[in-house]
Amino acid sequence: MKVYKFGGASVKNADAIENLFSIVQKEKSELIIVVSAMDKTTNNLELVWEYQLNGNKDKALEKIAEINTFHISIVNDLRIENNGHLIQQINSFTEKLKDYINSSISGNKAFCYDQIVSYGELLSTTIISHYLNYKKLDNLWVDARELIKTTNHHQEARVNWEKSKKQINKLINGNSKTYVTQGFIGATDDGITTTLGREGSDYSAAILAWSKEAEEVIIWKDVSGLLNADPKLFKETEQLFKISFKEAIELSYLGASVIHPKTIKPLQNKGIPLSIRSFLNDSQKGSVISNNGENDRDIPSFIFKPNQLLLSITTKDFSFIFEDHISDLFQLFASYGLKVHLMQNSALSFSVCGIIKAAMLNQLIEKLSENYIVRYNERVDLLSIRHYKNFDLPEIVKNQEVLIQQRSRSTIRYVFKKY
Ligand code: ASP
Ligand code: MG
Repeated sequence: MKVYKFGGASVKNADAIENLFSIVQKEKSELIIVVSAMDKTTNNLELVWEYQLNGNKDKALEKIAEINTFHISIVNDLRIENNGHLIQQINSFTEKLKDYINSSISGNKAFCYDQIVSYGELLSTTIISHYLNYKKLDNLWVDARELIKTTNHHQEARVNWEKSKKQINKLINGNSKTYVTQGFIGATDDGITTTLGREGSDYSAAILAWSKEAEEVIIWKDVSGLLNADPKLFKETEQLFKISFKEAIELSYLGASVIHPKTIKPLQNKGIPLSIRSFLNDSQKGSVISNNGENDRDIPSFIFKPNQLLLSITTKDFSFIFEDHISDLFQLFASYGLKVHLMQNSALSFSVCGIIKAAMLNQLIEKLSENYIVRYNERVDLLSIRHYKNFDLPEIVKNQEVLIQQRSRSTIRYVFKKY
């Protein structure tokens, strides 16, 4: 069994869906196809949610009508004959959504979010499953809310692994060669819809693969695979063809937008390889993340994080910064939402580089100033080079003021700002 995941961009219109068919058709193994919402549908549903929260029912309904038209137009573009039943299904989903907006079912914000935003994946998978059946690629549509069992932490639900595994093995049991299901969504034991957090479809694919002990997960994307740097910032980039799970986690810790560690973990636990491949060109090799770390050090990766906060903290009486200070500081960072990307300390001062919401910065500084002397710089940049090959100052750091430089055996990091 394999798991394929297609993101919003790879199902954004009829051409993309035809392309999905041409890729899926070649697969000989049993397959679970996990699909995200089409194109910008999740963002549009978030708008519906916001309108609803602000009591702007008309706007919410208008947006739903737009979402409905968008999906119907994709069905029309796919030129499916006798599409009456499919159109009816789409309309019935959007009717349910309208009913939800019209009814006064209340709940907390996050609960409402899940009840609204989950429709994106329900709509996309309904169209895709129907289209594949129409193209004679027999498949079963499965409701992910019966597969992925979660807690009721709405908008960021946590997975109940054992229950999910049981459900997945019960419903995906060889009664079809191909299954189509939704990414991103799940449900509590009581059947209340939940979501797994934005960009959660990769995670859904990992949960399914873990439960089925799949042979492989392939994420089909609009890039050829993992690159060693952002091509928008660096002239020459190279593809990382093979890296280990551990390396992928290290890279994402440094801020690379590889796959989220949450997705990697379950696959790593069962040694299931994860490939990232181009849906535009499926003959390209792609990148594989697996237990094999043999090529981890071959190519240096450049991870650039702009607009960071650099904070330096000293005790007021110039006593040493000890463990108890540091634990106190980290508690404050957590409660003010400072996400730390790098830290450095000396006897008297402790520095961190990270990001914080602008609105929280002043509050944090004020709080810290009660007990410490605080200096900070708001717009510094952070460059990390993993598996550096030499100590030459990289181009992007040249002629900049380097505020911190850190070097370990595997990684060099620079915090710098413009003179
Ligand atoms: N549709 C959801 C989102 O856009 C989940 C996903 O695409 O992974 O965040
Ligand atoms: Mg999406």
